[in-house]
Amino acid sequence: MKILVINAGSSSLKYQLFDMDNESIIAKGLCERIGIDGHLKHTPMVDGKPVFDEDMSFPTHSEAIAAVLDKLVSAEYGVVSSMEEIGAVGHRVLHGGMKFTASQLVTEEVKEAIRACFPLGPLHNPANLMGIEACEKAMPGVPQIAVFDTAFHQTMPASSYMYAIPYKYYEENQVRRYGFHGTSHRYVSAEAIRVMGLEAEGSKIITCHLGNGSSLAAVKDGKCFDTSMGLTPLEGVPMGTRSGDLDPAVVEFITNLEGCTVSETLTMLNKKSGVLAVSGVSSDFRDLDNAVAEGNERAKLALDMFNYNVKKYIGSYAAAMGGVDGIVFTAGVGENSASVREACLEGLEYMGVKLDKEANNCRGKLQKISAEDSKVQVYVIPTNEELVIARDAKEIVEA
Ligand code: ADP
Repeated sequence: MKILVINAGSSSLKYQLFDMDNESIIAKGLCERIGIDGHLKHTPMVDGKPVFDEDMSFPTHSEAIAAVLDKLVSAEYGVVSSMEEIGAVGHRVLHGGMKFTASQLVTEEVKEAIRACFPLGPLHNPANLMGIEACEKAMPGVPQIAVFDTAFHQTMPASSYMYAIPYKYYEENQVRRYGFHGTSHRYVSAEAIRVMGLEAEGSKIITCHLGNGSSLAAVKDGKCFDTSMGLTPLEGVPMGTRSGDLDPAVVEFITNLEGCTVSETLTMLNKKSGVLAVSGVSSDFRDLDNAVAEGNERAKLALDMFNYNVKKYIGSYAAAMGGVDGIVFTAGVGENSASVREACLEGLEYMGVKLDKEANNCRGKLQKISAEDSKVQVYVIPTNEELVIARDAKEIVEA
């Protein structure tokens, strides 16, 4: 069975087509500038097929999806002979609120629930739904599956997910911690349990998804026990452009200072903060490394703050679970930056973490990076959210 995986953003749409017989990617691509003008890069992953990389007209997500499907079956760039070969489409959906604890076959009710979560994921959920509806239109009858970033975290106990604010905001407005990157935390924690030869029951894993956006999760008995992102993906460790945790009073202070709206302050906290703001250099960790090498003190401070906060979360999650068997690093920074991993773990020897510096000198592959005599095992595990989405979609259509 072939499964198409779609990650629709407000002006972009990424896709991968999987052959689930061997879980290989047979084509992938990216539609950009949807609603502005449009550009499609389509890359067939089979021998002899050229890459398509041209401007196109994408007034809405519908035209973008139509162009993708056209390329997937075209004689020149195609990898399938007809659309009938595509058994299902799996969609990444940011926010599933409290309703979804697992991936869902899209029905009118599911779409309504995704719509009901628009206020919780105002940038992503509308785009995700547009992606779903564009596919429904372009490929009628093909099952559409929604895979939620929040679903894995729905197992958190109330003491992890509640905010200490008046209870009615939880009861009436569902204000609480949800957590994100759930598909990634689910995948790498399960991989860790597998490679460490543990039973899920009784296992204690801390997963560090460190990328442009970063979050950590405490995974106890194979289930999420706590996570660092909250009602929105702004909470937690400092990120590329997001502030992460701060005293909420900062919002009023800066809003008054600037004479701007709360929403403008929130945009600043989401898009102009994090390591970008502290360093004054870049949100990209490679640029920060280069700046540090040139002696830039603020770039060093930005990295120090990032590493320190990751370490604080690791320590708090070890305390929360009553210990830790394994720590996993994943995503762009977690998979690639040996220096970030080393700094995040520095000083944790007291809790049984001993890094193997030589093994840590790796990138982008599954690798154990703790020493043989380390009580806590530490791994780099490349995440694969698209594969999880494809697997979920396959499982649901075959059920
Ligand atoms: P997203 O949250 O957009 O999915 P990724 O998980 O792809 O992000 O991570 C992107 C980040 O990974 C970038 O900020 C980049 O700095 C970082 N990154 C990629 N390669 C390296 C590297 N070799 N060293 C340090 N950071 C890296």
